[in-house]
Amino acid sequence: MSTLGPSPLIANDRHLSVAQAREAILAPLRPAVGTEALTLAEALGRVLVQDLISPMNVPPHDNSAMDGYAFDGAVLEVDPEADLTLSVAGTAYAGQAFTLAVAAGQAVRIMTGAVMPPGLDTVVPQELVKTESEGAALRVIVPARTVKRGENRRRAGEDLALGKPALRAGRLLRPSDLGLAASLGFAELTVRRRLRVALISTGDELRNPGHPLPEGCIYDSNRASLAGALRRLGVEVVDQGLVPDQPAALEAAFTQAAATCDAVVTSGGVSVGEADYTRELLSRLGEVAFWKVAMRPGRPFAFGPLRRAPSGDAGEPAWLFALPGNPVAALVTFYAFVREALQVLAGAPAEPPMALRVKSAEAIRKRPGRTEFQRAIVQRESEGPLAGEWTARITGSQGAGILRSLSEANALLVLGHEQGSVAAGEPVEVWMFEGLV
Ligand code: AMP
Ligand code: MG
Repeated sequence: MSTLGPSPLIANDRHLSVAQAREAILAPLRPAVGTEALTLAEALGRVLVQDLISPMNVPPHDNSAMDGYAFDGAVLEVDPEADLTLSVAGTAYAGQAFTLAVAAGQAVRIMTGAVMPPGLDTVVPQELVKTESEGAALRVIVPARTVKRGENRRRAGEDLALGKPALRAGRLLRPSDLGLAASLGFAELTVRRRLRVALISTGDELRNPGHPLPEGCIYDSNRASLAGALRRLGVEVVDQGLVPDQPAALEAAFTQAAATCDAVVTSGGVSVGEADYTRELLSRLGEVAFWKVAMRPGRPFAFGPLRRAPSGDAGEPAWLFALPGNPVAALVTFYAFVREALQVLAGAPAEPPMALRVKSAEAIRKRPGRTEFQRAIVQRESEGPLAGEWTARITGSQGAGILRSLSEANALLVLGHEQGSVAAGEPVEVWMFEGLV
């Protein structure tokens, strides 16, 4: 069990900046999960446990980068101003061993990817030479200054040298990484097992979709959106459903989650009106601290370790992320803090959202002293003063509960802590929702 007390940063009542909160959350986290061996097909999105050391040179032999004629480039140094005439000793094909002997002053016709015959270090592309045949004999004429010694030859090990790491420990495996592992002959990789994350919604007013909605109630949308966000991270989601605002029910849910999962994500119940009994409950279950972060939306949330058993056993705690209930605030705090925290618990380095800079399509009012996340559409303008430029335009109502505007957006426009108002055409930072891989 960690003995982490509330960080000095959060002991007082002032608001943390988003950057301070992010650092303080990441600081105590360590990888939480063991390992398993998986086939390449199963390993996509998993975290590599150890450096993958190349068992061979890639490419395995010096080979030709061009279709052309290979020869010993030493002859180029004899008289650089003279054309070179070489007799052709044979042909080297890709995928075949070359067995002919090559005498001094001879060239070999060579295909792209074919192994360089011993002693030959230079390839002249076929389109840059002339050939002459005389009976069965073939000669190639290389005009002066066409190639330099060593050109158009790929060196053995130039992509990857034998014994060097091809992929680093902690790598979140992408499609190209699986290809790289395959190119080295690996059929299986040792990866971290998937992180298990419990997901809980709290609130007496919440009902499950698919059921009737009594007066005064709303459907639980956070579990649907947070489960999606969690699945995109490749974690195993343990859906613990709805929990009413009753201390005994909450305690049972948190205890069960802490016993079975590596992390617990909840939404609701941490705002000022409800925080007191949650605070009291969480102080009994672990060392969860309440956080006030200077951000909009998404201010109130709680974070910290939960003990795995009432007695407090050894080993890793389960980390609680108690997010605000407002649907947009819940997702924004997830992207701002929980995403990277789960990456670290899963054994990968924290990878901040890829921030791009585009031009703001419109003026935006903002006061320094907090970070604002606005729902925005990033697009290439087809007309107007910014025609042809990539811009971000704020979409719909920015109320913390209004999911529709988040659904319409394709990015979050992030106005940093120190940032003031923005003029139309000024660069702003955006976090795109979808990436390439
Ligand atoms: P809370 O943080 O519990 O005070 O909730 C803040 C607001 O978010 C209230 O209007 C709640 O009804 C709403 N809310 C809380 N949890 C959810 C949820 N799971 N789905 C939709 N709305 C929610
Ligand atoms: Mg509530």
